[in-house]
Amino acid sequence: MKIYNTLNNRKEEFVPINEGKVGMYVCGPTVYNLIHIGNARPMIVFDTVRRYFEYKGYEVNYVSNFTDVDDKIIKAANEEGVDASEISERYIKECKQDMEHMNVRPATTHPKATEEIDGMIDLIQTLIDKGFAYEVNGTVYYRVKAFQGYGKLSGKNIEDMEAGHRDLLVDGESEKEDGLDFVLWKPKKEGEPFWKSPWGDGRPGWHTECSVMSRKYIGETLDIHAGGEDLIFPHHENEIAQSEAANGVKFANYWMHNAFLNIDNRKMSKSLGNFFTVRDIEKKFPLQILRFFMLSVHYRSPLNFSDTLVQSAANGLDRILTAVERLDEILGKVDKNTELKAEEEQVVKDIDSFVAKYEEAMEDDFNTADAIAAIFELVKLANVSVNESSSYALVKKAYDTIVKLLDVLGINAKREEESLDSKVQELIDQRQEARKNKDFAKADEIRDQLLAMGIELKDTREGVKWKRI
Ligand code: AMP
Ligand code: ZN
Repeated sequence: MKIYNTLNNRKEEFVPINEGKVGMYVCGPTVYNLIHIGNARPMIVFDTVRRYFEYKGYEVNYVSNFTDVDDKIIKAANEEGVDASEISERYIKECKQDMEHMNVRPATTHPKATEEIDGMIDLIQTLIDKGFAYEVNGTVYYRVKAFQGYGKLSGKNIEDMEAGHRDLLVDGESEKEDGLDFVLWKPKKEGEPFWKSPWGDGRPGWHTECSVMSRKYIGETLDIHAGGEDLIFPHHENEIAQSEAANGVKFANYWMHNAFLNIDNRKMSKSLGNFFTVRDIEKKFPLQILRFFMLSVHYRSPLNFSDTLVQSAANGLDRILTAVERLDEILGKVDKNTELKAEEEQVVKDIDSFVAKYEEAMEDDFNTADAIAAIFELVKLANVSVNESSSYALVKKAYDTIVKLLDVLGINAKREEESLDSKVQELIDQRQEARKNKDFAKADEIRDQLLAMGIELKDTREGVKWKRI
């Protein structure tokens, strides 16, 4: 499997630290309002990476944090006149709901910065003890020049960066030894949350949390560290400086970065005001379409968001789901005992060759665009070569293969509007219960009630299905 490693700017063969295991850390959102669809891109992309590793039989320890203490959270709290924790808890909950609806699985661990302050204080103390950090008037700075490899991820060199920082030094940061030095701990300000530390009451700088949480929940060296490309500098560069200085070992073997989601070819961001929240989009169409849209382009390519492009993703997904539905219907009709016929062997071979194509695409730095193309070929083959006179074995193989490959991309093979409509499901469950209790009058009554709502039921091999009429 090849992964494009930002550290070396090339695709490299993936070699895990421990055979059969992957430890990956993905920088999570700062929780001060609803996430936008730009924030959703790393979630969807790296969830897909995780799913593919699992498909290949790896055990994945997936850690993704919530930054729940930050200037923006404090500002939002002050505006509403509530505690910062009320803001962060509210938006963590909302974010988890969005993730669930986008079929992004919960991380193995979702640590929160405010619950890891002790670890951050320990890390900062270690850095001071080793000469990589210093305190001035209650602020602790990282001494960038003490760390040999600074700039190795972003490809920046210290001299160039220093030229750009000279003005800053004049501008109120004169207590720093050097303009490049960044904050590890800052003293409390009136009205802000704070914690006790050897350097006085205050709170940690942003970069510290990821170094601490990744080590605690994965280890000193990560297999993969991931995030959006805007995090390469300074966030990830600073994480490397902190972790490698403190631990004395390489921080992460592979660095993966997703490109940006743009709108009208400009970066989608809260500060530019040109963003849609995941919640806005969910009102327009099922989020499964958003997920399919995101994966239809390679994660390192910029992705432009437009109604036309989303519509075309929706049409593509619809074509796949229609084929799956058709296969499902055929499965309900053909005799379960029919085995593969000799003339079907070529179709099976073709199915396997598309699976190989799909895997080849995914192993080439998770090229989901080509993987989806392989699914389309599979769908075309099934539409042409699988029908009611096929053997059960062939229909099942075609059905299972498409469903499985979709699942690795986090796409549910069932139409989302159906699975989302919990009221209908509830009535169906009540009807099943009535039938179990031989209360057929009640069962019929519920069926009629659903019919009146425009819902028709169909009893199939896999239970009760419904559709709008
Ligand atoms: P933030 O809450 O700004 O720290 O962002 C959380 C994650 O979303 C980070 O990995 C960012 O790189 C990523 N991100 C933010 N905006 C976009 C965007 N427009 N496109 C892709 N990723 C983004
Ligand atoms: Zn981070």
